[in-house]
Amino acid sequence: MLIDIHTHIQQHDPSEVDGMIQRAKEAGVSTIIAAGTTIEDSKKAIALAETYSNIFAGVGIHPADLEAPISREDINTLNELAGHERVIVMSEIGIDFMPKSPDHDWQEEAFAAQIEIARNHNLPVVFHIREHLDDLTRFEARSAALSILADLDAGELGGAAHYFQGDYDYARKVLDLGFKISFAKPLLRSPELQEVAKRVPLDSIVLETDSYPQPFKKNRARWTEPKDTRQVAECLAQLKNIPLKQFHNRNV
Ligand SMILES: [Zn+2]
Repeated sequence: MLIDIHTHIQQHDPSEVDGMIQRAKEAGVSTIIAAGTTIEDSKKAIALAETYSNIFAGVGIHPADLEAPISREDINTLNELAGHERVIVMSEIGIDFMPKSPDHDWQEEAFAAQIEIARNHNLPVVFHIREHLDDLTRFEARSAALSILADLDAGELGGAAHYFQGDYDYARKVLDLGFKISFAKPLLRSPELQEVAKRVPLDSIVLETDSYPQPFKKNRARWTEPKDTRQVAECLAQLKNIPLKQFHNRNV
């Protein structure tokens, strides 16, 4: 069975969840991780994981959701949430240098603090890195994030670069730090990314959809859902020239 290692399905209307889980099961996606993006959202992810046996939770504050420097109180609350028995990953945390993103120092401080929380609970770290899209020559988000991960020896905890969309050199750096590469639907349409996937060892690859509510897509059937992990797995199987069942029972 397949695992969708990164979603935000706790952000959907609760009435949607049963259907999404059913459609995922029909596609062979047995387990789903719901990652929080704020403290409140992390609590929602945990509540969902308490309700459904095949959903597990991630906790964290997404860098784009920081409204102030991370506080001692935030850290204490996250530390408590991270100890919950249904929490299996520290996520979604990371670095986001989009033009309107929060202060970069706040982001770096929050990322490091949350990696320390992950260490307290021995949780893998599934991280977000997004560059300033107008300047894709300097890769400042990438270098800030990777140096924090390296300085804190976060690779010891394991985890993955979520929604990976980079070249092989970047993938190699992530792998050398001790993390896996998490591919999502961009793999279906990017020949460059497909070339990267061919070179990344199979046991260093995990899959995800990053599903969240997409009301901007008028046709509900077109929203990305955990079931789409299967499409990503099928694409990867084809690229690697192996049977789909080799992805079964994969873990973060
Ligand atoms: Zn996400």
